[in-house]
Amino acid sequence: MAGSGKFFVGGNWKCNGTKESITKLVSDLNAATLESDVDVVVAPPFIYIDQVKSSLTDRIEVSAQNTWIGKGGAFTGEISAEQLVDIGCQWVILGHSERRHVIGEDDQFIGKKAAYALSQNLKVMACIGELLEEREAGKTFDVCFKQMKAFADWKNVVIAYEPVWAIGTGKVASPEQAQEVHAAVRDWLKTNVSADVASTVRIIYGGSVNAANCAELAKKEDIDGFLVGGASLKGPDFATICNSVT
Ligand code: PGA
Repeated sequence: MAGSGKFFVGGNWKCNGTKESITKLVSDLNAATLESDVDVVVAPPFIYIDQVKSSLTDRIEVSAQNTWIGKGGAFTGEISAEQLVDIGCQWVILGHSERRHVIGEDDQFIGKKAAYALSQNLKVMACIGELLEEREAGKTFDVCFKQMKAFADWKNVVIAYEPVWAIGTGKVASPEQAQEVHAAVRDWLKTNVSADVASTVRIIYGGSVNAANCAELAKKEDIDGFLVGGASLKGPDFATICNSVT
């Protein structure tokens, strides 16, 4: 743990769940014993946020998985930051690789979303990470630094380093691979933003984190928590990951 504040674990439920399965997941999370020195946040699909907010313990905060770029209005199919705040949502995930590479969101678009979400008092999990071919071409740092440049304000932001080749593939980055990028990102912040931001911001790792591999990763100095996809759909496994705080 190098950033200040608590260890941070986010659960990204992605486009999964039904009213029934989410009722069960929430009840498992409510029953779990969580260490006190960990911040825990879950991100249900938009349509279930209200259900989760009204049934989940306040111990766990709630995030959206996306938001509109600015104030709401005539934007069919979008959800605004104001609406998320209105239903009690505290966080939003932005820049996830599935939105970058499947939906086609670019750095500029993501940066605007982050600025607007922060202006409306949503906290942001800002995701960065390289594709396999970018890693193989030795471009990991360049890609991550370029993605970082789109985010202007770091207060109320947690950075999630999620190598795209590790997401949903079962191929978790080794603790050394993750630590190397986290340290480089922190160094980049020191040079390009401020020493204060570099030493306080939390940098979490995402990509095939599970109950079995989290403890080794959590030992690394610059790994301040996790963003968890698949394993966050299983309450007991997610609780184990939350409690991997060292
Ligand atoms: P995964 O997803 O844990 O299923 O690899 C992580 C993420 O996309 O945030």
